[in-house]
Amino acid sequence: MSAHRKISDRLVIATHNPGKLAEMRDLLAPYGVDAVSAGELGLSEPDETGTTFRANARIKAAAAAKASGQPAFADDSGLAVDALDGEPGIYSARWAGPDKDFRAAMNEVQTRLMKVGAKAPERRRAHFVSALCVAWPDGHIEEFEATVGGIVVWPPRGDKGFGYDPLFLPDGYTRTFGEMPSEEKHGLPPHGLGLSHRARAFVKLAAACLEPRKG
Ligand code: IMP
Repeated sequence: MSAHRKISDRLVIATHNPGKLAEMRDLLAPYGVDAVSAGELGLSEPDETGTTFRANARIKAAAAAKASGQPAFADDSGLAVDALDGEPGIYSARWAGPDKDFRAAMNEVQTRLMKVGAKAPERRRAHFVSALCVAWPDGHIEEFEATVGGIVVWPPRGDKGFGYDPLFLPDGYTRTFGEMPSEEKHGLPPHGLGLSHRARAFVKLAAACLEPRKG
């Protein structure tokens, strides 16, 4: 028997980002889980003071569970570049500044890679990380983490997706995340086993904590 706690019919999504909420609603729908956002409930956003993706996901999920009295879900993610000692990492969103200028953030990655002489593909390895956390009001938590490896290309390619997608060529593919339609980027069942970090982490969460809708 699984030691994981199951998610029942309703989950608070600890995000104020409409894109993330829409994505989670789609992912949870086949399991009959109704997703309501922290924004819709008027919950405030805690400071992300953790030093790891996992810690930040936990801070966000636990705060929303406590404030709402219901199970809550949060994710934290980012791009870690090996030759930059894992940067931008948990600061991936911050590198884009208040204007969310990811063109500038991608330029910064490339400038720093050039500074350390990382020109050859094997010196430009990186991975996206996704940490997911479900927290219950009684303090119970379930956590899942996944990565996808690849290389940083230059110049950026593609105008799909968001953030650092145009920079990232996943291992075994010829198109960057920025060139892939979202179904290909996520590669979710029944067509795949998960390609993006977020999809891979969600597949783990679903196996542990969700049950397919009956009937
Ligand atoms: P979060 O909202 O604190 O998790 O911020 C994560 C940041 O990491 C985003 O703003 C993006 O810059 C970056 N990021 C995370 N996942 C992806 C992805 O799938 N593609 C591109 N960028 C991503």
